[in-house]
Amino acid sequence: MVLPSTKKAYAYTVLSASWNGTFATYSKNANLGSLYSIAVDDAANDWSNSSSPFDFVADSASANNIRFDARSELGYTTVTYTPSTRTINSFIISMDNIPPFPWWIGGAMPMNYYDFRTAVRHELGHALGLGHTDTSNRLMSTTLPPNTARSVDADAINGSRFMYDSSYTGSPPERSYYGLTLPPYSGPGTYDDQSTAISYGGWAPNWLTFNPAANAGFSTISRTGTIGSRAHIALGPSTVNKITLFYSTGPDRRNANVYIDQVNVGSINAQTPEYRRQVGKTWAMTSAASHSFEVRFGPNAGLFDVDMFAVNIATVGSGTYNNTDAQLRYFGTWVPTTGISGAYNADHTISNTAGSLFRFAFDGDQITYYYTTAYNRGKAAITIDGVDKGYIDMYTLLTYRQQSTTFGNLGPGTHILNVNVTGQKNLLSLGTYVDVDVLNVP
Ligand SMILES: [Zn+2]
Repeated sequence: MVLPSTKKAYAYTVLSASWNGTFATYSKNANLGSLYSIAVDDAANDWSNSSSPFDFVADSASANNIRFDARSELGYTTVTYTPSTRTINSFIISMDNIPPFPWWIGGAMPMNYYDFRTAVRHELGHALGLGHTDTSNRLMSTTLPPNTARSVDADAINGSRFMYDSSYTGSPPERSYYGLTLPPYSGPGTYDDQSTAISYGGWAPNWLTFNPAANAGFSTISRTGTIGSRAHIALGPSTVNKITLFYSTGPDRRNANVYIDQVNVGSINAQTPEYRRQVGKTWAMTSAASHSFEVRFGPNAGLFDVDMFAVNIATVGSGTYNNTDAQLRYFGTWVPTTGISGAYNADHTISNTAGSLFRFAFDGDQITYYYTTAYNRGKAAITIDGVDKGYIDMYTLLTYRQQSTTFGNLGPGTHILNVNVTGQKNLLSLGTYVDVDVLNVP
């Protein structure tokens, strides 16, 4: 009797981009020093001497460079490719040169050291077009434990043959959610963290799904506590001019760096005194060409989550937007209420459920938020573009309609206002209600 096997025949993924040819040159940065430089050659020769059809050839003039860089992961490979043909043009391999990742290149390996040649073999696998496999104990596995050496193994060779050997008839690549596979381009629209448009990776990635996550977009988030974990979306091919990242802030949330086309375009500080869902920040693209967008958790220990990616998010410009306007997006428990004497349009929308929120995407340098203050009002937490703007305490002994707070000097472009019901209140207040009457963009 033959039992069905759950073991994958071939454990490899591909970047969906490959070289035009069966070899690549590489140069070694002087910062490797002589011993590490020799170890790099060893790893490259391990590929060339294997049955992989793809070879690496040392060439001190090559633009494909291998070097030490300060990173928070063992190694990182940047591959550039032509989107229309998905032809790889160049690569940079950065091996970490900062603690806590001590390298081993010879002699007895001390505890908790990492085999440098194995790590370079792995990165060279990326350089020739391989992604990660979530099958363990492979050269291209997502993680490399300390004190572990791996050769250019059969799975890596099969992946290489799939790309570079036309006579290859073995299994095609597996699809790996945790792969480094470059997903198809994503054009305008909204992509949940669970979308296949998002790929998750990084050194020892540890992205956990939370479903349901109250008041999150599509009711899910993906959360990591592992520094260097990455979430990536490929934008394009030609109609993307901005991307908005939605994430949660909270007391245990920390920071992340954001990269567009591998260039750091800023950092996010997601720490706030209480949890706030669907905090958003938008980055504009300087050209209409395709782009990669990546969020990388770190450098401070804690947690970070991604909730949604909105490509070319719909915005409104200057105008007056009643609480019933479709541009105000409500999450949690909110009650639209009419017959409110003194309120704009005699209505407002109100909540006293902690964690409920509304958000509003607009273009303009300034926004004014109108609300009611009264004996039963609590505190609203305001976040704009991921920046904590503090609280509005809506308590007053008497009732006052159309009170307002203005947030200005936001700069040109798209902004995301997030108003969160905190459940907190002034000691004198008899409730924690927060309402929205109207928003005005001048
Ligand atoms: Zn890798």
